[in-house]
Amino acid sequence: MSADVAKLNLHRSEKTVMITGVSGQDGSLMADYLLKTTTHNIIGGARRLAVHNHGNFTHLENQSRFSLVNFDLTDTHSIDKLIREIRPHYFINLAAQTFVKSSWDFPVQTWETNTTGVLHILEAIRQHCPKCRFYNAGSSEEFGDVAYSPQDEKHPLRPRSPYGASKAAARQLVKVYRESYNLFAIQSWLFNHEGPRRGKEFVTRKISSQVVDIYKSLKGKFTPIIPLELGNLDAMRDWSDAEDCVKAIWLMLNNAAPVEYVVSSGKSHSIREFVELAFEGVGIKGQWVGKGVEEVYKYVSGPVSPDAIEGTLVKINPSFYRPAEVDSLCGNSTRIRKELGWKPQTDFAHLVAKMIYNDMQLAGLGDDFFNLHVKVGGIK
Ligand code: GDP
Repeated sequence: MSADVAKLNLHRSEKTVMITGVSGQDGSLMADYLLKTTTHNIIGGARRLAVHNHGNFTHLENQSRFSLVNFDLTDTHSIDKLIREIRPHYFINLAAQTFVKSSWDFPVQTWETNTTGVLHILEAIRQHCPKCRFYNAGSSEEFGDVAYSPQDEKHPLRPRSPYGASKAAARQLVKVYRESYNLFAIQSWLFNHEGPRRGKEFVTRKISSQVVDIYKSLKGKFTPIIPLELGNLDAMRDWSDAEDCVKAIWLMLNNAAPVEYVVSSGKSHSIREFVELAFEGVGIKGQWVGKGVEEVYKYVSGPVSPDAIEGTLVKINPSFYRPAEVDSLCGNSTRIRKELGWKPQTDFAHLVAKMIYNDMQLAGLGDDFFNLHVKVGGIK
């Protein structure tokens, strides 16, 4: 055992779960969930960045069953060494280049991280710990240019972005290793899943954080409003709560057989609807006016009189359009619900409210949220 591994918080009688991408939304939620519901050792892997990126897991760092290791999916040697020395019982790969829009700017990096990186993990597991249960995060972006709706496990892979292609290719590698070497290796299709820990480059958190900024400036009478700039308002997504998704991952990993499932809410909503609900969350009503790139969301009512402000809340910025768009995604998750008893706890309206509440709290306005809503179920 190397000196690095000797320093980890490993209770030897317990199983060990390796979670990559622990600084991200899903990785940190997975670590939280497993520390709460199991007695396993959790090893969280994160890339060492020049900028401190521990915000999502600072609360884990003093937990006796949690250890942090440096992990980079593009470094073959360190992946091999880690798996050889730790020989985890479970390996949950939640590290990836996850932002679809960036995948056109960095297609090679996206591929090396999301596809070649998975191959390195599979090889190391095959050689050093073939009993390890491996989970790789798949995506509804693999369905892309959809052939029918809602999409189930039989839907063909028709990616529309380098990101979608990288995940579809990783899926084939996972399948080949599962079938060739009898590994418990799976990649489910996670539809969009969001929450307070989502990065602000994703549309949901971008909207929730900037809607709260607008509320704050209206309340403080710091007019004019800085409008929220968005791209395609008509894209439809099937959004779930990321906390529901990590539970699905753990169920799949502990299933009797390595089966790959669609994980989704089964309901699809437009970006436009997300915007409307988010503004309602801070007590602002608006109205869509105009068409195409000229379309705006105008202030109708809220904390100040409409006459007192120049009230454009949202406008279009074409730089947020994508070279190729996935217009509409909606998942059919009947199979995981029936076979594993998975059921999402948070619906769309409560997910939006939960994200608004979080951004209100971060802005020191948590009480305002309760004054506006008295009580909204599903919010922690
Ligand atoms: P994705 O579904 O994994 O690509 O998640 P995103 O949150 O990045 O994007 C969801 C949808 O929102 C896509 O169809 C985008 O084209 C659309 N969208 C519209 N405006 C924006 C924007 O300003 N930022 C982002 N990220 N997406 C936007």
